[in-house]
Amino acid sequence: MFPPAEGEPPSKGAEPPAEAWTNWAANQRWFPQAVARPVTVEDVVSVVRTASDQQRRAKVVGSGHSFTGAAVTDGVTIHLGGHSRVLDVDPESGLVKAQAGITLGRLSRALAGAGLALANMGDVDVQSLAGALSTGTHGTGAAAGSLASQVVGMELVTADGELRSCSSDDDPELFEAARVGLGALGVVTSVTLRAVPAFSLRAQETIEPLDQVLGRLDGHVAGNDHFEFFWVPHTNLARTKRNNRCDDPPRGGGGARRFVDRVLLENVAFGALCRLDRRWPQLTPRLAPAMATGGRRDVVDRSYRIFVSPRRVHFVEMEYAVPRHRAVEAVTRVRDLIEREHLRVAFPVEVRFAPAEDVWLSTSQGRDSAYIAVHQYWGMPYERYFELVEEVMVDLGGRPHWGKVHTRTAGDLASLYPHWARWQHQRARADPHGMWANGYLDRVLGPPGTL
Ligand SMILES: Cc1cc2nc3c(=O)[nH]c(=O)nc-3n(C[C@H](O)[C@H](O)[C@H](O)COP(=O)(O)OP(=O)(O)OC[C@H]3O[C@@H](n4cnc5c(N)ncnc54)[C@H](O)[C@@H]3O)c2cc1C
Repeated sequence: MFPPAEGEPPSKGAEPPAEAWTNWAANQRWFPQAVARPVTVEDVVSVVRTASDQQRRAKVVGSGHSFTGAAVTDGVTIHLGGHSRVLDVDPESGLVKAQAGITLGRLSRALAGAGLALANMGDVDVQSLAGALSTGTHGTGAAAGSLASQVVGMELVTADGELRSCSSDDDPELFEAARVGLGALGVVTSVTLRAVPAFSLRAQETIEPLDQVLGRLDGHVAGNDHFEFFWVPHTNLARTKRNNRCDDPPRGGGGARRFVDRVLLENVAFGALCRLDRRWPQLTPRLAPAMATGGRRDVVDRSYRIFVSPRRVHFVEMEYAVPRHRAVEAVTRVRDLIEREHLRVAFPVEVRFAPAEDVWLSTSQGRDSAYIAVHQYWGMPYERYFELVEEVMVDLGGRPHWGKVHTRTAGDLASLYPHWARWQHQRARADPHGMWANGYLDRVLGPPGTL
């Protein structure tokens, strides 16, 4: 295994670090010995070889939107912001090749220009393409797979400084491992994915009683392309979101309306309520109904603008994928424990859905899944809440999101993923000495080089 880095920073393509790095949620902080910003693939190869020669560990950081220490390193932080171009778009086949550092937002806008779109997205688009892939980023929808399920090929530079291509035909085992690779296999430099013809979505949002939503859940999930809901703790209120494909021209969601809905209500007013909760937690149950404000929303817009929203209110989050048929039980148990333990929870609980998929370390691998996400406003205590929710999720056979807070270890996780040993074999092959290891990966994957 590579020792913690010491001595001079790598000379080629790297610069001495100036400051600490933190993630979006500010719950991870690290001091890399060097920072590299490669622009070309040759630069990436050079950075990796230099770090390897100097026996330094390294890690790519994308947009820093993981809540876990997935991107933390004591060696070389590699940032691919300058390696972020769309390389090839084929409108006929929908195949698109892009450099790994591009953000999902930039990629979406480029696709729109070519009459294409990502088939499904999560709720923000600021992540880097490879960063989002690496932790299994997903959206919602009974038939709407994760980002990794849309990928058909990748290129990565492994610890020996070699550039490798992989796809379902070319080194398929490496491909299956790299689709959700946790940054443990090398530096992903490009991703080829299959986009779909550009489409519009009609977004309908409203407030409904939680009991009613849970009572008709199967119908909601099956009857909409993308269904999700946010339950507001301390209430029986849920904000439901139904996004369905439609051919109507855009309406209702542009300019001023979008600003009022997405910025003023979802961020400014919501942030003000969260600050009140943090200052006077005893008021949380009484303030809770106000969290469900915003009324009805019914707009049509291009898919990539409907899927995502700005997120200016910072929080920490834990999210578990449980078998789909246990969704109602999962939400009910979370509701019960919040009341039983007199927890003060300012943030809504988000519930989403995804189909079973093949990707080896996808949290929805092999089973239709429901995602239960708990959040707490930045600066409010979350540990007890998350610990209790995690107990429930573990009991339900839940798999934690790789990019969100959790306490599971490799020993807990191995039995949840049928392809675990094959994935570990690819890790040992691509990184025999643990160049990409860090504390988080040691915990959730075990020490490098072990099968
Ligand atoms: C506000 C917010 C909203 C979110 N919404 C969703 C959502 O809707 N759905 C969902 O599933 N998740 C969501 N997430 C989680 C987020 O999508 C993931 O944590 C994602 O991994 C973040 O991408 P990133 O570019 O910031 O990567 P980082 O967090 O910087 O890195 C994640 C991992 O990817 C690795 N990595 C990055 N680039 C490369 C590369 N080029 N080669 C190899 N490894 C690489 C890093 O080393 C690290 O291990 C959200 C997070 C936040 C903060």
